[in-house]
Amino acid sequence: MASSKCIKCDNTTFEMKEAKITGSNFRMMFVQCSRCGGVVGLTEFMNAGSMLERISKKLGV
Ligand SMILES: [Zn+2]
Repeated sequence: MASSKCIKCDNTTFEMKEAKITGSNFRMMFVQCSRCGGVVGLTEFMNAGSMLERISKKLGV
């Protein structure tokens, strides 16, 4: 599998950072290069997948 790299500096390690987005009511997380801070992705602050897993466990499905 190809390794993911920053398009700006070719670094291959990333980190999550809380994003402040003007005009948004939702907290989001940036996935950014741990060297130069170049943003490579965006995800919800509340991870929908893990939230659904918790809910489905409570429901017993
Ligand atoms: Zn970078």
